Amino acid sequence: MLTLNTKIERLAGVGPSLKKTLNSLGLFYIEDLLYHLPFRYVDFSKKVAIGLAKVGEMVTIEAKVISVEARRSFKSRLQFTEAILEDNTGQIKVVWFNQPYIAKQLPIGSVIIIAGKIEWYKEKQITNPFFEKLELDADSAGKILPIYHLTKGLSNLRLAKLIKLAWQQTTTKLDDYLDKKTLSNFNLLTLSEAIATLHFPTNSAEINKARFRIAIDDCLPQQIASNIKQAQLKDQSAPVIQTDVEYIKKLVSNLPFKLTDSQKRATWDILQELSVGVPHNRLLEGDVGSGKTVVAWLIAMMAVKNGYQVAIMAPTEILAKQHHQSFISLCESLSTNAGLFTQNFHLINNEVVSKQDLIAKLSENSVDIVIGTHALLSEHLKFHNLGLIIIDEQHRFGVGQRAYLQKSHSKKLIPHLLSMSATPIPRSLGLALFGNLQISQLTQLPKNRQQIITKLLLEDERKIAYKKIEEEVSSGRQVFIITPKVEESSTEVKSVKAEFERIKKLFPKFKIGLVYGSMKGEEKDQVMNRFANNQIQILVATTVIEIGIDVPNATVILIEGAENFGLAQLHQLRGRVGRGTNQSFCYLFTTQDSQLETKRLRIFEVTTDGFALAEYDLKERGFGDLFGKQQSGFAFRFPEFITIEALKKAHQVADSILKNNPTLKGLDKLKLASNKYLEEIHNE
Ligand code: ADP
Ligand code: MG
Repeated sequence: MLTLNTKIERLAGVGPSLKKTLNSLGLFYIEDLLYHLPFRYVDFSKKVAIGLAKVGEMVTIEAKVISVEARRSFKSRLQFTEAILEDNTGQIKVVWFNQPYIAKQLPIGSVIIIAGKIEWYKEKQITNPFFEKLELDADSAGKILPIYHLTKGLSNLRLAKLIKLAWQQTTTKLDDYLDKKTLSNFNLLTLSEAIATLHFPTNSAEINKARFRIAIDDCLPQQIASNIKQAQLKDQSAPVIQTDVEYIKKLVSNLPFKLTDSQKRATWDILQELSVGVPHNRLLEGDVGSGKTVVAWLIAMMAVKNGYQVAIMAPTEILAKQHHQSFISLCESLSTNAGLFTQNFHLINNEVVSKQDLIAKLSENSVDIVIGTHALLSEHLKFHNLGLIIIDEQHRFGVGQRAYLQKSHSKKLIPHLLSMSATPIPRSLGLALFGNLQISQLTQLPKNRQQIITKLLLEDERKIAYKKIEEEVSSGRQVFIITPKVEESSTEVKSVKAEFERIKKLFPKFKIGLVYGSMKGEEKDQVMNRFANNQIQILVATTVIEIGIDVPNATVILIEGAENFGLAQLHQLRGRVGRGTNQSFCYLFTTQDSQLETKRLRIFEVTTDGFALAEYDLKERGFGDLFGKQQSGFAFRFPEFITIEALKKAHQVADSILKNNPTLKGLDKLKLASNKYLEEIHNE
């Protein structure tokens, strides 16, 4: 008999080679297998015979590949794969744009399942359907088939069967966080019911309910941590930082620019709350370039004016140095001292000092503001009077750091906390995620910023984009070409490599680079560096470039398969250009010719506000699509299941658990997971 902790190779039929394949998917124990949940379903209740499929209908078709061909249209330089499928009632044409590698995946004679809309172009056709090469059970008719993430050498049917076997033979129960009473109070499925439903569904309605239950479990540790922290903070005192309006006015009038209305409002909101004497938590969100630093500076100056010290943490040394320089120049002609504390640099204002010296000066209160990296945490710093901690790019830092800095504090006051982030978390989501967090958003960019010209182009308008690329590169600028996000990484690599080859032929005069996620770190850095130094003019990339690349000379970004991205993510991608002084352009192509998709991308064309885009995403596509994986900073296992409703419900469930069982007795797994959040996550 099997338990959850049994190694998968004990399962009948799992030999050394299959074990290796499963391990490569992160599956080692029976429990992993049971938690390998389908990401999609094919609904065979919608299956139709080709001869009966009606134009306009969304259908599932099971048919044999009669012919398949990768082709290229010379006029539009467009690549496409064309296949004819047949069942015993007729034939239908299927076309995939820009995915030439699909041809190789469809051997003639193989039977595939496709799902898509029947269109009419002189004959019945389906364009860009999602397809699966499924081996089927004899009894698949009328069923809802779960579709799993796979890897080479593992078919969907094989995996489904393994999961079924594991489920049937496992004797130990899944460790359910929730007891019977809680389940019935909140109208939730048991964990076992949810897992079983997701693997072996009988109708689509129950799938949603099961996902909801999994989502609750997934966000519960974070919500527990949040509730605990909230309760702890409620009884604590924090420094009272009075707003000296005259002083602020003076500081503002000496700035080299006028504050935007957003900046004014955020500054004012934060200052008001700091005067209350209760530990304040706020997230200041704003796109790159929206001017968060000056807001942070004004707040910091007010804390200093009230006699408190301020610690500012940045994720990298470069950013810390940049902040330090900005602060020094903003403080010019003021008597405020700003220190820099990183692994390699110890400065007070512009003067190099020893580490010991800087540490001593902090404890004597002769340094007012210290800016640093996590090096700030590695030394046992003694502040004289720490009143405010500011954390830039908040998702990389967290509660633990605040607690740590706090310990070094002589008085029994909890410093205020201001986190800053360029990730546009919609307000509704922010509130659901971090109950007690206040949120300020800088929704405007300073006036002098140029807007990025954004265009959704049709296939036959490709030349517009390519002409612009030609012009820009000819005049010394650089270009990003982003290939679609694909579920399976080997397919993604194929597609980015194919695009690289295509672009090389298209622009033989220019130097073209290639970068993708699974490349070796060094290799990736090398390409990025060469792009940064303008040794590469056009960079063909997957979304790896989403984070941390700043090339002001890049003026065009062309995004293929834009339907695969959430709008917030497209916005982050678009933000890779327009960083210099030159007019910049963002071109989108989509392989999905649907009105809904076009409407969504048209909204993106005209919307420059990242928050509005994120709100739209959240409403239309849910949490999972909101941020790129690396970016979100949330440790959710099934982000695609999480909804605002689930977060809200999880908050109530957390309340109810803590009320009855404040120490989480008997709930070891939950306790462990939420402790991890208490140490790690940005929310307090
Ligand atoms: P971010 O929000 O990305 O941290 P920064 O604070 O670094 O943005 O600001 C980006 C640039 O914009 C800085 O050079 C800053 O001096 C400038 N800036 C900030 N606010 C304004 C404003 N209201 N008007 C003009 N320039 C501004
Ligand atoms: Mg910044």
